[in-house]
Amino acid sequence: MKQSLITQKNRKLRHLRELYPEINIQLLYRRDILRLLAKYGHGPLAVEPRGAERVLLTAQQIQQRVQELGEEITRDYQGQEIVLIGVLRGVVCFMADLMRHLDLPLQMEFLEISHYGVEGGPGAGGEVTVTRDVQAAVEGRSVLLVEDIVDTGMTLQFLLRHLWSKRPASVAVCTLLDKRVRRMHEVPIRYRGFEIPDEFVVGYGLDYQGLYRNLPHIGVLTPVEPKGKVLLPADT
Ligand code: 5GP
Repeated sequence: MKQSLITQKNRKLRHLRELYPEINIQLLYRRDILRLLAKYGHGPLAVEPRGAERVLLTAQQIQQRVQELGEEITRDYQGQEIVLIGVLRGVVCFMADLMRHLDLPLQMEFLEISHYGVEGGPGAGGEVTVTRDVQAAVEGRSVLLVEDIVDTGMTLQFLLRHLWSKRPASVAVCTLLDKRVRRMHEVPIRYRGFEIPDEFVVGYGLDYQGLYRNLPHIGVLTPVEPKGKVLLPADT
């Protein structure tokens, strides 16, 4: 959290990596801690007034790309019937737009997950759990899993394992956004809308504390203190 100690910490990390190359060590900066808090609905973004929002992708850019993805998927799956599975709730805008560009026979399904798990239940301990499963049988069918955003890849890795246990003929992944620089789990992404930088984004289905999902564009929230002072220096 202290910028003045960064050089020393990096030196220590380099040393640790040399000593223990088999251990994956990462330094979390102040910025990373705050983004992590935001991902789970906490932190300074919650301070009023809410952070100003900067447009990262305009509605027009999104619509154009979604159409291209739809055409690509239609070409790839010619002659097949697919099951489109969306991960609630961030995917609603993307899924609704994408499916209207798919000229294929398809069924629409949704999965709902929670990152916290039920206390005492299988998800306790912070991993992902399925709170609402797909309703249709997918055994032997071609599945296209539709995601809003892939960040570390943890959620997607879990979802793929969950879906493959239902023995579909194939599973391909389509995500609107990819924060590739943050990846910790290697996951196969067949269709990608946009690769985006490591920023906390909202809009077009994506929320912060349940809000902003209805924005037609995708924006970045910059947290501010009540008096308007920016909390996050860009270089921390
Ligand atoms: P992962 O498991 O890949 O680290 O995280 C994926 C999930 O975290 C997404 O499905 C989404 O719910 C949430 N997430 C990751 N990055 C962002 C972001 O920038 N904005 C919002 N609103 N949610 C995010």
